[in-house]
Amino acid sequence: MQPIMKKIAVFPGSFDPFTLGHEGIVKRALSLFDEVIISVGANALKKSFYSVDTRKEMIMKVFRNEPRVIVDHYEGLTVDYCKKKKAGFILRGLRTAADFEFERAIAQVNKAMAPEIESVFILTIPEHSHINSTIVKDIIRSGGDASQFVPASLNLKDYKGDEDL
Ligand code: ADP
Repeated sequence: MQPIMKKIAVFPGSFDPFTLGHEGIVKRALSLFDEVIISVGANALKKSFYSVDTRKEMIMKVFRNEPRVIVDHYEGLTVDYCKKKKAGFILRGLRTAADFEFERAIAQVNKAMAPEIESVFILTIPEHSHINSTIVKDIIRSGGDASQFVPASLNLKDYKGDEDL
């Protein structure tokens, strides 16, 4: 008899910081997958404000009561990381047509490199479609209150970012 394979999805991203939009995607993905690995990766196009460790700490706080969510980080190709973790799915969130175009190219390249891994997209709820880590980061750096854009369990004052950015 074939062993029953756990459905594992990797949710890769910068998460700088983790927002309500990201949280919404992960919560909904838990009805599709047995396990979701949220993995903080470096985005070559974006300079980070929070360190990888701080970002992981924030995400672990949000999902501290959800054993099916695992928080990790990675470097290198997402598909190689998925193989290492025995994950058959890459999870991404979609807000706009611009997100779609960006994600389409990445997903098609990933498919060409690793045909056994499927990319799965979850469309954000309208209330989250304007939430964007870059804008949230700008509000924090300018001393504003960004609490309405991040999960309720996060107190942004507990985390320090890179003031020189
Ligand atoms: P990356 O640098 O890899 O794009 P992000 O942290 O910006 O990392 O985003 C990670 C994933 O979460 C992407 O799939 C992105 O489209 C999605 N995402 C970002 N913000 C939201 C949101 N408000 N609602 C739904 N998905 C989102």
